[in-house]
Amino acid sequence: MNIILIGPPASGKGTQAKFLEKLFNLYHLSTGDLLREMANGCSDLSKKIKNLIDNGQFVSDELIIQVVKNKIDELKQNNANLGILFDGFPRTLFQAKALEDMLNIDYIIEIAVSKQEIVKRVLDRAVCKTCGKSFLLSQTNSVKCDNCGGNIVKRNDDRKEIAEARYDEYMLKTYPIVEYFKKHKGYHKIDGENTMDLILNQICKVLSSEEI
Ligand code: AMP
Repeated sequence: MNIILIGPPASGKGTQAKFLEKLFNLYHLSTGDLLREMANGCSDLSKKIKNLIDNGQFVSDELIIQVVKNKIDELKQNNANLGILFDGFPRTLFQAKALEDMLNIDYIIEIAVSKQEIVKRVLDRAVCKTCGKSFLLSQTNSVKCDNCGGNIVKRNDDRKEIAEARYDEYMLKTYPIVEYFKKHKGYHKIDGENTMDLILNQICKVLSSEEI
C-alpha cells in the first residue's frame, strides 16, 4: 500500500505519518528529513540544499526525484512489498507524475488547513535539536527535551514570513496535485483543523475500510 499525504507545510503530515507508519507497517519517506540529512555535509550541494531549506524554497524537481528514486530502489531491494508513506513529496505536478511512473499509488490523503491556522502553528512550534521531537512553545516550560535532554530550538525555517511564503507556494505549485488526484479513487480530503486524534481516526478509517 503506497500513500501520499498532502497538505500545506505544518498541516500535521509528519505527526500523522509517525502514527500511520507503525499502525500500517509502512516506511515513512519524508523528503524534508532526507534533505535535512543531505544538508548536514560540507559539500557545495549540501550548502545549496541548506540555503534553499532555510529560505523555504523548493530544491529542483530533478534533484528531489533522483533522491526519491534512489530511496525507493534501496527500500525495494530489501523488501519488494514494503508500503511507502510519502510525506512532503510530491510537491509539484511534475514530481507527482514522476512518482506515478515509479510506483502504483493507492491513496492520496489531503490534510486541509487554512493559511491563518498554519501561521499560528508555525510560530508555536519547536523541535529538539538532538532527537527531533516536536514541542509546542505554548505548552512547554523547559528548554530541554524530555526525551533525550537535547536543546529545544526553533527550526530556521519556522518564521511568519517564511510560513506565509511556503503556504502561498503550496497553493501555487502543490495544490494543482490535489486537483489532479481528485479523480483518483484513492483520493480523500480530511479536515486538518480537527484534533490530532480525530484526524488520525479518520485517516485510519479510510485506509482500513476500502479495497485497494
Ligand atoms: P518539509 O520538512 O517537508 O517541510 O521540507 C523542508 C524543506 O525541504 C522544504 O521547505 C523544501 O525546501 C525542501 N523540500 C522537501 N521536500 C521537497 C520536495 N518534494 N520538492 C522540493 N523541495 C522539497
